[in-house]
Amino acid sequence: MLDADFFRRWLTNAADAVDRSAALLTELDSPIGDADHGSNLQPGFTAVVVTLEKEAPETPGAVLTLAGRQLISTVGGASGPLYGTLLRRTGKALGDAAEVDEATFTEALRTGIDAVAALGGAAPGDKTMLDALMPGVDALGTSFGAARDAAREGALATTPLLARKGRASYLGERSIGHQDPGATSAALLFDALAETAE
Ligand code: ADP
Ligand code: MG
Ligand code: MG
Repeated sequence: MLDADFFRRWLTNAADAVDRSAALLTELDSPIGDADHGSNLQPGFTAVVVTLEKEAPETPGAVLTLAGRQLISTVGGASGPLYGTLLRRTGKALGDAAEVDEATFTEALRTGIDAVAALGGAAPGDKTMLDALMPGVDALGTSFGAARDAAREGALATTPLLARKGRASYLGERSIGHQDPGATSAALLFDALAETAE
């Protein structure tokens, strides 16, 4: 079973991963964006960790809802409301249970990802964070490790795609040949999840 502490550790590991990869995320956002993805996410995830320590929410749902609200208020750029919605809606779907099993978490995460798709109007294959989030949650039914691998592959597979949403879409054909920064950060969330479950 997964409790509030598991989710707090997940987000702490995610913040560490974003911290370590901030330069890479910003570099990936340079040819097909405005070179700020790492510097958008890094202070946001740091603020999430600080808020979780201060407010110590007691249920998985409350941890994710609080983290999502914090991301929305801290992160500038398209990715803030998108990741904020992901966590907030996943948390809301978990309700107020003290512990949740993996299948319940998987379904809640799917609800959160669907909310990201609805908010941003993107579909899989549009070269966005959804291209890592969707395969990741699909594989979560198998194992945390399988989800990590699938999300990573999904991020790598954005390279040949034409961007249809976000800033990269302004480039049209010139967006082809570059890995999507948001799909790359989404894969980090699944990395951190697998690390937390180890
Ligand atoms: P901004 O583009 O405002 O500078 P970021 O650089 O932080 O924001 O985030 C860019 C990432 O956000 C993209 O790489 C993409 O994965 C994701 N993204 C942008 N628009 C959308 C959208 N409509 N739906 C899903 N993801 C999106
Ligand atoms: Mg950007
Ligand atoms: Mg920007």
